[in-house]
Amino acid sequence: MESRMRRLAALVVAVTASGIAPAQAASLKVLATTEDLASLTREVGGDRVQVEALAKGYQDPHFVEAKPSFVLKLHAADLLVAVGREMEIGWLPALVNQSRNAKIQVGAAGYLDASLTAHILEIPQGQITRAMGDVHPFGNPHYWLDPANGRRVAQAIQAKLAELSPADAGYFASRYADFDKRLAVGEARWDAAMAPYKGLKVVTYHRSWPNFCERFGLDVVGYIEPRPGIPPSPSHIIALIQEMKRLGIKIVLVEPYFDLRTPNSVARETGARILVMPPSVGGEKEITDYVALFDHDVKLVVDAIVETGAR
Ligand SMILES: [Zn+2]
Repeated sequence: MESRMRRLAALVVAVTASGIAPAQAASLKVLATTEDLASLTREVGGDRVQVEALAKGYQDPHFVEAKPSFVLKLHAADLLVAVGREMEIGWLPALVNQSRNAKIQVGAAGYLDASLTAHILEIPQGQITRAMGDVHPFGNPHYWLDPANGRRVAQAIQAKLAELSPADAGYFASRYADFDKRLAVGEARWDAAMAPYKGLKVVTYHRSWPNFCERFGLDVVGYIEPRPGIPPSPSHIIALIQEMKRLGIKIVLVEPYFDLRTPNSVARETGARILVMPPSVGGEKEITDYVALFDHDVKLVVDAIVETGAR
């Protein structure tokens, strides 16, 4: 093992000395807060960027455990891409501060709030307050779950990468154009698969799916959580069960990081199917990129609709 490591190290030195590696080395170090943003950055940045995500796709992006290694990664980053809308308020700002990296501070050239060009739903009217513990005070931060927003975010990433590495602007533009085409093919596929079920009423655990449901024609009529970030209470669940029975709800979407006990008891009372649906790239092994996320989730929903006879 030891000698193999030495041989590898020697090889790296040799390759570097030959001049091949520096010419092909990725220039920009990009950190994304989620695997979705990392995937979109990879689509545009190709081999001219090194991309890593902080949160894993199976974690609740509102509540990510801050690891010491995150500070080191942030310290070395040229660009930080964040979901924004306070999605990461509970864990990111302190880490960015500790990173002592002026490039990636909010407002600096190396900080990209991906929500700025996205179509944001549920923007509160009137005075904004956290009194109820709402974790969506500036609109719904789960906007990447509409592929049209994925396209908008990829475009913003393209512009930002070109700004930070102007010599590669043409490369990023052609990578974006290729992604845009593949995404459009995917959209036609997903829209066609969902078209027969327009207006189907569903319940979800957290408000992760308004963009997904708006795009694909599902109607969210209730939530397991009484408010975003607030755990279910007995009185809320009793009212929800009555409403679900009245409306004949057959499908409940649950993000993988929530406890299934309450959803399961709701399912027992109503006969609805619990669908554990990953909202992010990396939420399941086969969800390796942004396009695969929609292939996976659309199939999950369509299969459940067909199997339960929900209409
Ligand atoms: Zn949320």
